[in-house]
Amino acid sequence: MKRILIFTVFALSATLAYSQAKYVFLFIGDGMGFGAVTLTEDYLAARQGNEPGSGTLTFSTFPVTGFSTTYSASSLVTCSAASGTAFACGSKTRNGRIGMNADATENLTSIAYRLKEKGYKVGITTSVSIDHATPAVFYAHQASRSMYYEIAQDLAKSGFDFFSGAGFVEPLGKDKRQESIFGLIEKNGYAVVRSLSDCKSSTAPKLLLLQPDSKPQTAYPYAIDKSSDDYTLAQTTALAIEKLQNGKGFFLMVEGGKIDWASHDNDAGSMVREVIDMSEAVKVALDFYRKYPKQTLIVVTADHETGGLGVGSGAGGSIDILGLGKQKASVDKLAQRLKDATSYSELKAWLAENMGITVSYGDEILLRSLFAASAKSKPSSDDTPCTLKNSGEMTRSIMRMVSAKNGGSYSTFDHTGTMVPVYAIGEGSELFRGKMDNTDIPKKIAKATKVEWK
Ligand SMILES: [Zn+2]
Repeated sequence: MKRILIFTVFALSATLAYSQAKYVFLFIGDGMGFGAVTLTEDYLAARQGNEPGSGTLTFSTFPVTGFSTTYSASSLVTCSAASGTAFACGSKTRNGRIGMNADATENLTSIAYRLKEKGYKVGITTSVSIDHATPAVFYAHQASRSMYYEIAQDLAKSGFDFFSGAGFVEPLGKDKRQESIFGLIEKNGYAVVRSLSDCKSSTAPKLLLLQPDSKPQTAYPYAIDKSSDDYTLAQTTALAIEKLQNGKGFFLMVEGGKIDWASHDNDAGSMVREVIDMSEAVKVALDFYRKYPKQTLIVVTADHETGGLGVGSGAGGSIDILGLGKQKASVDKLAQRLKDATSYSELKAWLAENMGITVSYGDEILLRSLFAASAKSKPSSDDTPCTLKNSGEMTRSIMRMVSAKNGGSYSTFDHTGTMVPVYAIGEGSELFRGKMDNTDIPKKIAKATKVEWK
């Protein structure tokens, strides 16, 4: 009897430990598995001359931690659309679906719409295009993630308060003959701004912040390649808070979208910088939490793991973890370089300069064979410039080699089905302790915000 009583009191105190989260942050590190977090922390620790694992990201010391399964209705290995639909709408679906059930016969309702209905303001921000899968699952209902124009039409109709991202992939539709998505968005009461200062000064009630026209509309540059006028996730998160804060509360989703992109290309140096970029954005939310600790909930997780990343050299050799910081350019820059003719010597020098590596005997064998297989004609010497075919494959193979030297050992260029970490702090955070499925995440947010999940 006493035991039952103790258990009941414990259970009650666990459920009553929070009142209501009024300000909710959901950070999604796209592709950010345990390997990505571990490697980044090991790098940060080494940079400070400390023990491995002691370098912390802003979210990795959150008081509540858990882990989440990510499989989809069609595969053990999910895509961002299916896992996004799971953690936005609470249901499993087939890979590729955006906010719809597996058969694409029914629209699902995301936590963002549920909170909007309760009077919360809603913000959706990403470092890739705003019509990409992860942001889209919160506002759109489409059978396929590649229906970019239709997804953008759903954005215009969403009524959400703040969006930010790089741009739109198909602003005029696949055939480039549709009504401009910008006209449609403006008709729906949004102001479209293309600089941080215009965003800050705008008094429009509904805002869409994009990169300037002169920048790529598909994604922000990698953090490792950024110039001073490029947006950071921390800047857009701060602006989102400014625009969303109100007496009734807000829900803000922030996606670090290029952790996944770097991981697809097995580029650990860029990936680590992307994780740090998102960590800086979490810091902005954490500063907000410190002002409103009883009303704020911050959840940080991932949609899936990408790259099958393990921490190791791949061959049991020595690891130059600080080499991650010596890398000065992303895989994008390497791909660009390989599009132009290059000699083997030039390539080796370029890698030393930009990837910060010293080419060892073993690397030399690999590099030479890659170069020989890719060269359109057989070079007469190491100094003969060659045009390369299959430069995409060569790019990835070189990046895999560079990453392994620096401790990032990848096993695939795709997603994996391993579990992902969940970190939480603030009001209702204890709900995120232990093992969960990605479909539980929006239901837990609903519980923390006292929204009935029907
Ligand atoms: Zn991906």
